[in-house]
Amino acid sequence: MKIGILTYHASHNYGAFLQAYALQNVIKEQTGNDTEIINFNMPQALEFYENASNPKTGDSEYRSFYKKRFDMFIKQSKEHHDLSKESLITDDIKVFREWLSGKYDLIIVGSDEVWALNSFRGFPNPYWLPGVTGVKKVSYAASSRVGTENLSIEEKEQIKEFLSDFSYIGVRDGITEKMIRDVTGISPKMNCDPTFAFKFLINRELGKWLIKGRFHVDGNKKCIALMLTSGRMVDAITRKYDRDFDFISLYTYHKNVKKSVVLTPYEWIQVIAGCDGLISSFFHGVVFAMKSGTPFVALEPRKLESNEYSKIYDLLSRHGLEDNFHMLENPEEQSLRVIAPFLADILTGNARNDFSDVCNKEKQLLNSFLEQIPDIRPKHIVVTRPADCCGCGACMDSCPLSAIKLVNDEKGFWYPQVDNEICVNCGKCKDVCTFHVNKEKYSNRAEECGPLEVMGQNIRMKP
Ligand code: SF4
Ligand code: SF4
Repeated sequence: MKIGILTYHASHNYGAFLQAYALQNVIKEQTGNDTEIINFNMPQALEFYENASNPKTGDSEYRSFYKKRFDMFIKQSKEHHDLSKESLITDDIKVFREWLSGKYDLIIVGSDEVWALNSFRGFPNPYWLPGVTGVKKVSYAASSRVGTENLSIEEKEQIKEFLSDFSYIGVRDGITEKMIRDVTGISPKMNCDPTFAFKFLINRELGKWLIKGRFHVDGNKKCIALMLTSGRMVDAITRKYDRDFDFISLYTYHKNVKKSVVLTPYEWIQVIAGCDGLISSFFHGVVFAMKSGTPFVALEPRKLESNEYSKIYDLLSRHGLEDNFHMLENPEEQSLRVIAPFLADILTGNARNDFSDVCNKEKQLLNSFLEQIPDIRPKHIVVTRPADCCGCGACMDSCPLSAIKLVNDEKGFWYPQVDNEICVNCGKCKDVCTFHVNKEKYSNRAEECGPLEVMGQNIRMKP
């Protein structure tokens, strides 16, 4: 099955970059299907990020920061996203539809705010797949950012029509869930942000090393990472607490936080893990703080109609972490008050730094997606964890079409690789695999026993 993911992979922020990377890899790992990110963008999105990279005001350091960040995201996307060879930039739905025709068996729309109803991308736009036929359509962890309040009757009818032939509708937050239910009468499924479901390599020591080397922080004080867009809020915080903490700014440039450095997404993850705390207005800042066990406090520096309209609150409230969230009507003044107990806990070592229960629960939300699209899981062997394969090669030997070969992983152990061009999904290879046939009995045996001994034998194969 050929799968295309339609998402905001080319948006220049860490969250958008990493959710696209994670979704692509999770789908590949969990299903073994040929999966790529559809290399599509809209002119207004390109213009938006182009303008953001070229600020008309500010000093040369400020302007150079945004230019460097722009170039970095383009380079990183080319290097780390598996993009379709053909690309398209248009806001013309008809052109998009014709270009997409016949390319995929399944299109996954999402995750992220691909259905944002107040976006500069306009409505309707190609991310709703309007009129796209001849392909199975699903959404994964899509978000609309806002509810139905400002939608006209005509727009509601359009959404209803666009989603009428989706086989599965998965959303990331309560406000989108309600919007879809109100407009279509369908109850969508709740998915986790794909970054929860993907095992990123996170190394706290590397993070500390990067903080020291790239941000020139000597480590004598506790280090707090700021992911805040409001310059005034940053100024107020750093002015008041500069004596006790070193502050570094991730993502945005702030004149009074001299340590504004352009990090790659991989470095950004490590730095979050390496700092002593994070103050964030960004959803994925909060997600990666939880994934890496970094204490955090989330600030929403704008007045929303209620907490439910905040995607950060939506996530935290699902896990009883409401106290880590603050909506600020007057960010400059209130931020100092609400972060005081958090910073005090950092100094005394009492701040919560274990969120593994939250991450595990979120990860489970991937399952409804995989279970409810039965044909997304191929019948051929797919090894998603080293613990589920000992490298015996029985699957390879059983394939009547020789569609399987054994390839080495980085440690030199054999794992099967299926050529999807040859495989006809007969399922024979799966039927002969002990680990798959007796999944419950043998699950984890390869990992528990290590490479030398599995089921009492020297069975983890190596060339
Ligand atoms: S039969 Fe199972 S254990 Fe043996 S190589 Fe294939 S996937 Fe691995
Ligand atoms: S053709 Fe059959 S045996 Fe060969 S890889 Fe595909 S499912 Fe497995």
